[in-house]
Amino acid sequence: MVRETLQQKQARARSILRLLKKEYPHATCELDWSTPLELAVATILSAQCTDKRVNLVTPALFRKYRAARDWAAAPQETLETEFHSTGFFRNKAKNVRALMARLDAEFGGELPGDFDVLVSLPGIGRKTANLLVATVFGKPGLVVDTHFIRLSNRLGFVRNETDATKIEFALQKIVPAKDWTGWSHRMVWHGRRRCFARGPDCANCALAALCPSAGKAGAK
Ligand code: SF4
Repeated sequence: MVRETLQQKQARARSILRLLKKEYPHATCELDWSTPLELAVATILSAQCTDKRVNLVTPALFRKYRAARDWAAAPQETLETEFHSTGFFRNKAKNVRALMARLDAEFGGELPGDFDVLVSLPGIGRKTANLLVATVFGKPGLVVDTHFIRLSNRLGFVRNETDATKIEFALQKIVPAKDWTGWSHRMVWHGRRRCFARGPDCANCALAALCPSAGKAGAK
């Protein structure tokens, strides 16, 4: 593909989003949650784990721990056991306890809605902060997860880039802020349903005519 100008990338992104909205009109976060604290916990548990697995584990946890102080008071070993099947359970238990202790001590047990405050909290990186501001607070957020990274490369919006922050900043220039949240959810949905990590299903992909990787065996 010849090198595109920023304007050409923006126009192609608009067309891609139009098609993805038709494919996935109801795309949203696939983690189950009903309060901001629950989504914060589910997001921490989803690191290196499928949403499906997290959704199996969280109902019992959300019945047991309701307020930030409940989570903060839980013994490390108890949370480790309860988080075990999601992997990296020691770190996740440590992060959830530290996060909830800060929320309880400094934010009245509530999740703050400001991105810069969120990324300063334990266990919350840019991806999680963006997911929380976008999903809970209705603010624009580009949620750069593994699917987002893979698709940004395959769709030619970045080249051989694996750094999530660099990809986030690159896509901020290509996709209008009002579409960041919808774009993020649809990258994940398309990555899970068509543009698989191994063996993308280009033959049945609605984006094939707009994708420089279409039909290239073993698209990276
Ligand atoms: S054409 Fe293939 S590589 Fe491109 S987005 Fe579709 S499935 Fe992915």
